[in-house]
Amino acid sequence: ADRAPLPVFNGTCATADGHRVPLLANVGGGADARAAAAAGAEGVGLLRTEFCFLGRDAEPGHDEQVAAYRGVFDAFPGRKVVLRTLDAGADKPLPFLTDTAEPNPALGVRGYRTDTTVPGVLARQLAAVAQAEAESGAEVWVMAPMVSTASEAADFAALCAEAGLRVPGVMVEVPSAALTAGAVLRHVDFASIGTNDLTQYTMAADRQLGPLAALNDPWQPAVLALVKATADGAARAGTEGSPKPVGVCGEAAADPALAVVLVGLGATSLSMTARALEQVAAVLSTVTLERARELAALALDAESAVDAREAVRASLPILEQLG
Ligand code: PEP
Ligand code: MG
Repeated sequence: ADRAPLPVFNGTCATADGHRVPLLANVGGGADARAAAAAGAEGVGLLRTEFCFLGRDAEPGHDEQVAAYRGVFDAFPGRKVVLRTLDAGADKPLPFLTDTAEPNPALGVRGYRTDTTVPGVLARQLAAVAQAEAESGAEVWVMAPMVSTASEAADFAALCAEAGLRVPGVMVEVPSAALTAGAVLRHVDFASIGTNDLTQYTMAADRQLGPLAALNDPWQPAVLALVKATADGAARAGTEGSPKPVGVCGEAAADPALAVVLVGLGATSLSMTARALEQVAAVLSTVTLERARELAALALDAESAVDAREAVRASLPILEQLG
């Protein structure tokens, strides 16, 4: 009865000692983007562009793509929108792009890799993104999914430059990219960690299989270690005192206790479903950056995902108020 009222999300998020943590939204189209803007998201941290491609027999044309991307950009005038290029394959097959007969689709030609088997689709998408950016007021950052090596990052940055896109980045969702983040980030301006796939590939556990849910848990200390490796690599790739930005855009960022750990591990922004913004901001506002680092160390050192979660949750009394 004597509980203090929860702070309301007002569109900015900071730790108790004033360290800013931009909270962005994951969106899959214009309607989502407008709802995220209304909920107070500072921008978009993950625009999944598959919405424009799925369920079709052929690649959408230039004008259609421009209109689809503008529908999102226009919801965030002057704000940051991180667009992910097409992530086809595995759980998202496309008839004109992916080979559904692959024996192991999650390990197959998916995401950025499709540019090697069907070149042109990515370059045309980037051209449409560049035009949509020029016509809108948004600040567009563009990242490729499923990047595994520094040379892929370099090739993607070159494609972005050819299209006139100024802020190229990569998703870190494969352990090799996390382990070599210093080299990968030399070629691009930012990284965004996709914890859904990073967990799947770290634990060798299909993200779609219910019986493997305990392995497929982003609280797994091995996954947290790779988040830290990515943030450390970004610090090395940046200049003194100004590390390259590393966001987190997988579902993990929507878990308020895990969000604290991710910030403590070095994430510089978090992107999530708009529904989670308020709770994540409320919990982050109760800890200092130093405390977040201590809780991150606790989770990293735990023997299991369950132990990590329990240890951190027990240290965040505000969680009881959130229910
Ligand atoms: C992820 O893998 O964490 C991610 C954000 O991408 P998706 O869920 O679309 O694969
Ligand atoms: Mg992914």
